[in-house]
Amino acid sequence: MFSYRHAFHAGNHADVLKHITLIATLRHLMQKEAGLTLIDTHAGAGLYRLDGDYTETGGEAKDGVVKLLGALRPAGKPAIAGAPAIDDYLDLVTSYNPSGALRVYPGSPFVMHHLLRAESRDKLKLFELHPTDSKLLAGNIAQLDAGRQIAVARQDGFEGIKAFLPPPPSATGSKRAAVLIDPSYEIKTDYAKVSACVQEQLKRFPTGTFLVWYPIIPRPEAHDLPRRLKTVSNQNKRPWLNATLAIGQDPTHGPEDRPGLTASGMFVVNPPHTLKAVLQAALPQLLDLLGRGRGKGQTLESGG
Ligand code: SAM
Repeated sequence: MFSYRHAFHAGNHADVLKHITLIATLRHLMQKEAGLTLIDTHAGAGLYRLDGDYTETGGEAKDGVVKLLGALRPAGKPAIAGAPAIDDYLDLVTSYNPSGALRVYPGSPFVMHHLLRAESRDKLKLFELHPTDSKLLAGNIAQLDAGRQIAVARQDGFEGIKAFLPPPPSATGSKRAAVLIDPSYEIKTDYAKVSACVQEQLKRFPTGTFLVWYPIIPRPEAHDLPRRLKTVSNQNKRPWLNATLAIGQDPTHGPEDRPGLTASGMFVVNPPHTLKAVLQAALPQLLDLLGRGRGKGQTLESGG
């Protein structure tokens, strides 16, 4: 079960969609003074080298963040303004690369850490089960000297989340939380676990914001997941939003080449009311800049 390493995929088109949606959601939630509990049930290693062995093998960032940066922030030329959510994401990524060259990619724990507000108002709980990646994550987080603001656990995130929802009240008495659920779907039971987790946690904490990443692949469980999440949201009378991005086939690939992941989605339960407009502006541009060939497209729907 531990063959998945996110380092092979860091900064790919799926991370771009996931992290843009995450940042836009948190930006809105953080407009309110009250503290937030952030939970990342499948955190990964936190930081990834884009010039390391893993990405040279996979090279997936080339069709994701590298391509986006090359188009909107061309080296030695003036930056081109993108949709605000894309610019916000690129600013965050480049803040981890002060030399200008893109060497490091911030995974979701570092995306969230970047947005955490001072004085420990917000808390971040990270779960990662892989023996190597949980060690890497703990080491990367330790360097931040974040004290008790960030907690790392080598634990099953589907179980660990139960201890943190509903979240403790903030100084103003309100309870607020956002949860990223981003499994590797290495084992097909992950699909059912995701919808069961959202269902259970909505019962415990109906106003929490849940962000679920999922792959779009020809597999019945994957196909079913957004449908199930819609049902769970509707049954609980919660608003939802579903955004997908498909970059399509690589036209340079031959019929024998493995296509790799070409499409994914983000399903958000209790999205900020601003998120739809933000993604409506960002998705067409992402498609324009990252789309490759047959099968490319983007969708955005909402309900509740
Ligand atoms: N959220 C990360 C990001 O955006 O940078 C990427 C996470 S990666 C897609 C999924 C991670 O979940 C892998 O590192 C994997 O080892 C870990 N994992 C798999 N099953 C898990 C479980 N039940 N609980 C916690 N982590 C798990």
